[in-house]
Amino acid sequence: MSRLSKKDSPVKRFNWIDDLWDLRSINPNFDRRDSRYTVNFDNIAPGWFKNEAKKYIHHLCKSENSFSTIINKLNNLRPFSQYLVKNNISTFDEINRSLVINYLSQEQRIDKDKLCALREFFTLGNIGNWFNVEPDIIRNDDYPKRHRGNPDPISNTVREQIEQNLHRLPDPIARMWLIGYFSAMRPSELALLKQDCLVQEGQNWKLVWHRKKTNDYHEIPITITIAKVVQEQQEYIRNLWGNEWDYLFCHYYNLSDIDPSQSNLKPIKKILPGQVRHPLSTSICTLIKAIDIRDENGQLAKFTPKLLRSTRLTELFDQGHDLSVVSAWAGHKHFVTTSTYYTEVSCDLMQREAGHIHQALVNSDGNRISYESFPKSFWDNSVAHKLEVGATHINTPIYGYCGLPLDQDCYKFRACYTCRSFVATIEKLPQYINTRNELRAKSVKAMSAGQEVLVEQFGRQADQLDKIIAGLQQEVA
Ligand code: SF4
Repeated sequence: MSRLSKKDSPVKRFNWIDDLWDLRSINPNFDRRDSRYTVNFDNIAPGWFKNEAKKYIHHLCKSENSFSTIINKLNNLRPFSQYLVKNNISTFDEINRSLVINYLSQEQRIDKDKLCALREFFTLGNIGNWFNVEPDIIRNDDYPKRHRGNPDPISNTVREQIEQNLHRLPDPIARMWLIGYFSAMRPSELALLKQDCLVQEGQNWKLVWHRKKTNDYHEIPITITIAKVVQEQQEYIRNLWGNEWDYLFCHYYNLSDIDPSQSNLKPIKKILPGQVRHPLSTSICTLIKAIDIRDENGQLAKFTPKLLRSTRLTELFDQGHDLSVVSAWAGHKHFVTTSTYYTEVSCDLMQREAGHIHQALVNSDGNRISYESFPKSFWDNSVAHKLEVGATHINTPIYGYCGLPLDQDCYKFRACYTCRSFVATIEKLPQYINTRNELRAKSVKAMSAGQEVLVEQFGRQADQLDKIIAGLQQEVA
């Protein structure tokens, strides 16, 4: 049987008492990129522990964790189970914090993954009433400290040389680079990108895709050139297999390590693999060797598909987009994720930038608001959201932004300072103070003229401006 077709092998029927489980029988919606699909409880002992380990693995599988994650988690429980046997531990009642500490102290190196799996197992066991152990049997302090460095993006010199030579690669591989790079997708997202990812809205195009890591849909605006690249790839796949293949990309046989043109490439209906023999990785590395692409230090360049994302996000920042735009492009929920892991700009600068953004914006109640809570168009085209209405003898001047999505109608126009969608900005603080003072003066005048409606109207706006001013002043204090 072919190595590549083993996922199509018959699914072994699920039986709890077996020691060899075919995970496909528990989760038929498994990730097609998983190349392994069985777990073996053979050397998990003692029996009472094995039974609970089975519950844990069954739960992970039902929760649609990837098979590789599940297999790794079981492997990470194995040394602890052997420790139990060696120390004649016979029930869960004997598993306590001091036993865990003894177990950790006899390990040559505390492996974070082992500890995570064990902690998760204990936590789920307690929650599911499978057994009872001390809730803090493993604590945060037990984990080895690990410093995660920023991924080194591909340098501009290297990237430019690769891009100038993309024509030497087969077209679908070059398209993989172009789409992956432009979108800053994770390699797993690129692999599972569906053919219907391209959406046209009037003159504009966007790419929409599902993200497994965050289990949501993400979209980014794309240029007409990238839209054309996507269309060419759609056509290529349709010509190969009609409607039989849902994905935009596929895997290949006969990848060469010496010929960048990959002249013997044979497409196969298989999801792009995780790392080993990834067609983009193999092709770009072959190109690097063939035309001797070197970095600034004279070293032969290195490439993995993972680098496309960090390189693209760093480039967006270098191009002058602010952190909020880069963060939105990446689909990060927090700026700090973008700043810590995906851009090579100094973290201090990022923190200051993020701080500045957070400080600068408050709502009509004077409370700080984050960029993330705004519609996407706010980042792409903040001018469209800008409010700059000068004063007339009737109107109150309005300065700031409207946070309402552009496709929604405003029913309160000119009452922005009392509107929940209003966004006040720090640069306009002097104008807010002037406006508030003028409103108070108008209110006094209206009162002496007996114009009660106007008194209330001016007063309400002035009260909101008090809150906005106080909020902004607090932010800059
Ligand atoms: S009243 Fe509210 S919704 Fe209307 S423009 Fe002003 S801030 Fe936007």
